[in-house]
Formats: sequence, structure tokens, C-alpha cells
Amino acid sequence: MPEAENIVRIKNINVIYGGHHAVKNVSLDITRGEVVAIVGPSGAGKSTLLRAINMLEQPSSGTLEVGAIRFSVDRHLSAGELLRLRRSTGMVFQSFNLFPHMTVQRNISLPQMRVLGRTREQADARTAQLLERVHLTDKAHSYPARLSGGQQQRIAIARALALDPKVMLFDEPTSALDPELGLEVLAVMRELAQEGMTMIIVTHEIAFAADVADRVIVMANGEIIEQGPPDAVIRNPSSPRTRQFFRAVVDRR
Ligand code: ADP
Repeated sequence: MPEAENIVRIKNINVIYGGHHAVKNVSLDITRGEVVAIVGPSGAGKSTLLRAINMLEQPSSGTLEVGAIRFSVDRHLSAGELLRLRRSTGMVFQSFNLFPHMTVQRNISLPQMRVLGRTREQADARTAQLLERVHLTDKAHSYPARLSGGQQQRIAIARALALDPKVMLFDEPTSALDPELGLEVLAVMRELAQEGMTMIIVTHEIAFAADVADRVIVMANGEIIEQGPPDAVIRNPSSPRTRQFFRAVVDRR
């Protein structure tokens, strides 16, 4: 069998905010098609690590490789490099960040025209496919304000997919949603995972992580403290800190 291809390689990444060391020397490789869930207590550095992957946060040191783009993070990237990096990573935020004054179709088509140089016809054709994928074909001509939070988040997923990213990054995609609306977003994410999309998901949804992730990573205090298959990490964690975290999560329910 050929060796699995690494889509993301993170080596010794550090992110420091003022005096606060939010991500400490983290290294992590993600293979093509892998679904990785990052969990851990609030303030652990999960979101910062995710945002460092597409340079929404500037790490102070380390190297980063996404697809064919490889660079040391301690130098400023050129605008072209940054654009290539952002194109390789589809980001979905907790707040959906759709353009309120544009229809759903326009929200998804415009980045394709601006960034990939697709014609409006090409972009709209791809948008139609993506709307089908997130089960919202009938909303193409609606404005975001007319949609539920769950629908808006599914549109945000379609928009991120529209640039054909190598990896999808999800930053707590359901935490702003009522539970039942969260479920419809998780269902779309599950389908994406089954289709073989490479995904890194920062989440509090432990049951979802257990079910969908190939690997669960537990962070605390800016470090990865444990990682492995969900069964091992969630049901039988080896570190006391991980056990404590999962116990606290279960107690909250
Ligand atoms: P998590 O996603 O695990 O909850 P974060 O990555 O959001 O954790 O935050 C890690 C730490 O960095 C926290 O202590 C947080 O307060 C701090 N932090 C996050 N973003 C900033 C920022 N823009 N400026 C200063 N400190 C920040």
C-alpha cells in the first residue's frame, strides 16, 4: 500500500499573544482523507492552533505545510503565498460570516469568480452542485437573514467548499446554534467526512467526535496532551488530565 500522503504538516508551531503562550511547540501531521477532532477545555489553544494553519493567527516560530505550500512561519508570506494558503484551506467559523446583502447563490459564487477566476456561469454551476450537497437547493435566491442558523452554517460550508480546498477547518461550527440546528450541520459534516474530505474540527461535540473522527486530539494549556483513535482517547484515556476533561464534559450534560 502506498504511504498515506500528508496534507497538513505542522512542526514546532508556537503562538504567543503578548506574554501568553497560547500554542506551545505543537507538531501534527494530517493525512489525506483524515478527520481529526480537536477537543479540550476552554482556553486550551484549540482555536488558535486551527487559525494558525491558515495564518489567521501569526505563529512566532515553526514550519507549516499545506498541500504543496511549505514555509517557515517566522517570515512574512507574500500576498501570493498567503492567497494560495487560504485557498487550500476552507474555514468554517462559529459565526457564519455570510455577506448579508447578497443572496445565497452570490455568497457562494462570488469568491469563485474573484479567487479562482471562474465565469459567473461556471461559478453558478458549481454553486448549484454545492447547494445540493448541503441540501439547500431551494434557498439559492434567499438572503442569509431569511435562513435559520443551521441553514446559514450549511451555506458557509458550501462557500468554503467552493474554492476546492485541500482541507476543511471547522472552528466550533455548532456552538452558536440550538441543538437541533446543530444536528443538521453535523449531518452535513458527517457526509463530507464519508466522502473523503480531509477535515480538522475544533469541537465540544464529544459524541460527534467519537462517531466521525478518525483521530481525537486533546489539548490543554497550549499543548497536545493525548491523541489517538476515539475509542482509546475518549473511552479509555491514558492521561489523568484527559480523564478529568472528559469527566467534566459528561458531568455538564
Ligand atoms: P480554545 O479554542 O481552546 O478555547 P483559544 O485558542 O481560543 O482556546 O485561546 C487560547 C488562549 O489564548 C486563551 O487563554 C485565550 O484567552 C488566548 N487568546 C486567544 N485569542 C487571543 C487574542 N487575540 N489575543 C490575546 N489572547 C488571546
